[in-house]
Amino acid sequence: MEVKTSLLDNMIGVGDMVLLEPLSEDSFLENLKKRFDHNEIYTYIGSVVISMNPYRSLPIFTPEKVEEYRNRNFYELSPHIYALADEAYRSLRDQDKDQCILITGESGAGKTEASKLVMSYVAAVCGKGQEVNKVKEQLLQSNPVLEAFGNAKTVRNDNSSRFGKYMDIEFDFKGDPLGGVISNYLLEKSRVVKQPRGERNFHVFYQLLSGASDDTLKKLKLHRDFSKYNYLSLDSAIVNGLDDAANFRTVRNAMQIVGFMEDEVQSVLELVAAVLKLGNIEFKPESRCNGTDESRIKDKNEMCELLGIEQSVLERAFSYRTVEAKMEKVSTTLNVAQAYYARDALAKNLYSRLFSWLVTRINESIKVSDAQAKTRHKVMGVLDIYGFEIFEDNSFEQFIINYCNEKLQQIFIELTLHEEQEEYIREGIEWTNIDMNLHLLSNNQNGILAMLDEECLRPGTVTDETFLDKLNTICAEHQHFESRLSKNSKFLNDHSLPHNCFRIQHYAGKVLYRVEGFVDKNNDLLYRDLSQAMYKANHSLIKQLFPEGNPSKVNLKRPPTAGFQFKASVGTLMKNLQTKNPNYIRCIKPNDKKASHIFTESLVRHQVRYLGLMENVRVRRAGYAFRQAYEPCLERYKMLCKRTWPHWRGPERYWLEERRRQCLHDLASLIQKIYRGWKCRSHFLLLKKSQIV
Ligand code: ATP
Ligand code: MG
Repeated sequence: MEVKTSLLDNMIGVGDMVLLEPLSEDSFLENLKKRFDHNEIYTYIGSVVISMNPYRSLPIFTPEKVEEYRNRNFYELSPHIYALADEAYRSLRDQDKDQCILITGESGAGKTEASKLVMSYVAAVCGKGQEVNKVKEQLLQSNPVLEAFGNAKTVRNDNSSRFGKYMDIEFDFKGDPLGGVISNYLLEKSRVVKQPRGERNFHVFYQLLSGASDDTLKKLKLHRDFSKYNYLSLDSAIVNGLDDAANFRTVRNAMQIVGFMEDEVQSVLELVAAVLKLGNIEFKPESRCNGTDESRIKDKNEMCELLGIEQSVLERAFSYRTVEAKMEKVSTTLNVAQAYYARDALAKNLYSRLFSWLVTRINESIKVSDAQAKTRHKVMGVLDIYGFEIFEDNSFEQFIINYCNEKLQQIFIELTLHEEQEEYIREGIEWTNIDMNLHLLSNNQNGILAMLDEECLRPGTVTDETFLDKLNTICAEHQHFESRLSKNSKFLNDHSLPHNCFRIQHYAGKVLYRVEGFVDKNNDLLYRDLSQAMYKANHSLIKQLFPEGNPSKVNLKRPPTAGFQFKASVGTLMKNLQTKNPNYIRCIKPNDKKASHIFTESLVRHQVRYLGLMENVRVRRAGYAFRQAYEPCLERYKMLCKRTWPHWRGPERYWLEERRRQCLHDLASLIQKIYRGWKCRSHFLLLKKSQIV
């Protein structure tokens, strides 16, 4: 046993960081690298799985591997995401414990791939049968549909998820899937109208133009040529290794499996085409007698034909803005710049509403039937949400994404670290407290979001600058900003900052946010004239997407701000997660070249730090990270006793604790040797090491 361990150590490193000797950040990284170099992309920290993105396909996700990991104990085989999926599935099925799989890591670290591996593993090992297979297929095929509409090529990832996704998969008492529910979080809709250099719009636009038949394109009045569309960036329209045409067929097929009717697919594609055409609308000024300019659409636009809207109706909505106050309607004219702004706002709204509609439509298909809904379910939630983002230019979107990551980190700390420490203290187990050197700022961000809302709802002129002034004033008033917002907050007020920025010390690093667009993006308002014009369309889907445009349902109440909605949905998510048993997958990106075989130490070190992995492993090591039921443990080692095999009666715990007979005494010291330390608990043994030695 000893020889094998040291061999493993030398060649591929240790499979569980808890076993690493000596433990330091350097040895941690060295171990990850050693394993990565030997294609061992998974490493444990106790029950947490660290996953390194290999950036190439490895032969470790085959049906044979699924069989290998099926019904095996977590530490029996080498670390694998399948071991985590199996453990989670079995405790859901056999112990009736709802599970959640929390997948975190930065963009390109492999979260979405990991979530698909977990889902496909569970689909492979759970029940079979015609009905069950149909449910499984629908759940799995929802992925390509949502990826087409919600993912895009970015500089960090060729298939970057630009929305957060949480999926609850529901099972019956036997562990067969019944259906699911998907929640989506904040699609990055600004991408629809403008993409950063080297990035693309959402995949579906390119897929449609590359993969649709000539006939379909003709019906949609589209050209194959990307360059015809203002909303499609050209510098990186073709992505190596990404076959848009083939993916279009996959998506069409997936939509069919999920249960979209042909006319629904057609409507969806019409809206995708409408967004492209909307981007091509150009405006010209028309002088009015009062000396002001009013915008006019330059040419005939096919979008109107596609959606059954009269061009004059659309033109009017782009030329005037009507504000209703105290039963009085006041119209102001829009100049050309304002009309372009309104056009882009409409495109962003249209697309993001279409995306939410798709999620709702998928949910309708995959939902548990009413009859089954009455019986008790077991639930496995899978969370694949955008990782922490620190860019050169950070805006409202990054602020929101980082807010969500703070919350997740907070849950991670609470559930894995605090809880474990507290358990030791409660149990009176000897324990050295580990200082968790992590800053938690969600309360701080809560405060900033609340302040932004206050500002957005305030009467009078509200701009990004007035919001920033407010932030800075409060910061100056309270030398420790924390006192107003939270104990943990770190709003960094530094006079060397560019004038339109504020900086926050997040747990993962300092981020400089540019305040431009905060108020607007938080308000997320669409001029009523535009929603009314959309509602007038002779197109049932678009009518459905703009219900507030119905003139008989004029609602003067302001819709909740984007920040408020996001905060509420993250709050619900956190509550949901807290009711489940968490399983963690911490994804790491080995390099920022999207390349295989390259391990950039500084990049990995940074991720290890902000994911709090060192703290995690320290807590695990200081404590008794592993659990083993008495019986299998005694059964496993009893033959190693020097004397005759014991035949114990009554609780095994009694025999071990009391060390009643010499042979069990031998066994106890053997366990001590193998596991470095152990403690008896009511139903299981707590062990310091795992069994993979
Ligand atoms: P984002 O936050 O941008 O959505 P992500 O963490 O979801 O990023 P993925 O899209 O899962 O990242 O992975 C990025 C790319 O890395 C994948 O498209 C794939 O090429 C590669 N990759 C990730 N995991 C694996 C894996 N297990 N095997 C092979 N390639 C992988
Ligand atoms: Mg992703």
